[in-house]
Amino acid sequence: MPSTLPVAPWRVFTVEVRALRRLSPSFLRVTFTGPDLDRFADNGYDQRIKLALPLPGTVGELPDGADWYRRWRELPVDRRCPIRTYTVRAVRRQVPEVDVDLVLHGDGGPATRWARRARVGDQLAVVGPDAGYDGPHGGLEFRPPRGATLLLAGDETAAPAICGILERLPAEARGHALIEVPDPADALPLAGPPGVAVTWLARAGQGHGSRLVPAVTALAAELLPVPAPAGAAPGPLTDVDVDREILWEVPAPAGPAPLYAWLAGEAGVIRGLRRHLVTERGVDRGAVAFMGYWRLGRAES
Ligand SMILES: Cc1cc2nc3c(=O)[nH]c(=O)nc-3n(C[C@H](O)[C@H](O)[C@H](O)COP(=O)(O)OP(=O)(O)OC[C@H]3O[C@@H](n4cnc5c(N)ncnc54)[C@H](O)[C@@H]3O)c2cc1C
Repeated sequence: MPSTLPVAPWRVFTVEVRALRRLSPSFLRVTFTGPDLDRFADNGYDQRIKLALPLPGTVGELPDGADWYRRWRELPVDRRCPIRTYTVRAVRRQVPEVDVDLVLHGDGGPATRWARRARVGDQLAVVGPDAGYDGPHGGLEFRPPRGATLLLAGDETAAPAICGILERLPAEARGHALIEVPDPADALPLAGPPGVAVTWLARAGQGHGSRLVPAVTALAAELLPVPAPAGAAPGPLTDVDVDREILWEVPAPAGPAPLYAWLAGEAGVIRGLRRHLVTERGVDRGAVAFMGYWRLGRAES
């Protein structure tokens, strides 16, 4: 008998690895398949999801059902699979398959550790948007005002989202995408509107933000040639302590704005860019999404 339970926006999908493709020195594309992935909503843009990584000697799994998170938190620590946040890179519901591009950044975290050892057939749990839910799922932060010039900037962890955004933009979109990656060979082929200039910036051994910060600063000076007068910032900007709090400021869609910025990556870098754009260039905070979502030296909790 069909279930009469209301459908939640998100659900737990049990998946297994169907294919692994090393796209470049830093990116591994993992293609998942699973019995229910034909219900995985294809929302594009920067749709985020959660991966439950396996504890040693287990597969990655989560309690099922709409209250999976509460039940996961109640599990003893040694049975609680670590969860990390990623971006959907592609959804092929008819196959069914979902692609996720993971950055290989060392061996210290459960996600990158898993990715380095992943094999076809490995099992995981993914929390993702349910196509059976009739409404917005959430987890999409790219919400530009109509007609705004776009400024998309981020590090390698934001590359999948920026690629996903560019692929879904209308052909008449205008703007710039700046993506900092570890290695020149990490510049991935991507299809976006002709009016959005894409620049890949290779750190080549320098620190996080070493290429992105000057590039965003120079571009902002070009796009907003008149800096904000002292004290003109719209409302006080309290600096976030990125070692204690997450820097996550995503405005709801507002009225028209000349420029819309979407910035994501290492928290210290994004904090600096936020300060520059808002206080020194006078960018309207209502037209900038800042997501400093990973912090150098700290695990995602
Ligand atoms: C909305 C959202 C979308 C995201 N999308 C993606 C995505 O599509 N692809 C992707 O690869 N990542 C993405 N990330 C970032 C990813 O969640 C983090 O990099 C995460 O910390 C990786 O988990 P881990 O288990 O490998 O490392 P953790 O256990 O979280 O951290 C262990 C150590 O590794 C360091 N570390 C974490 N990430 C990096 C990194 N990229 N480079 C260098 N050091 C790092 C930490 O500072 C810490 O010292 C996204 C994050 C968010 C919030």
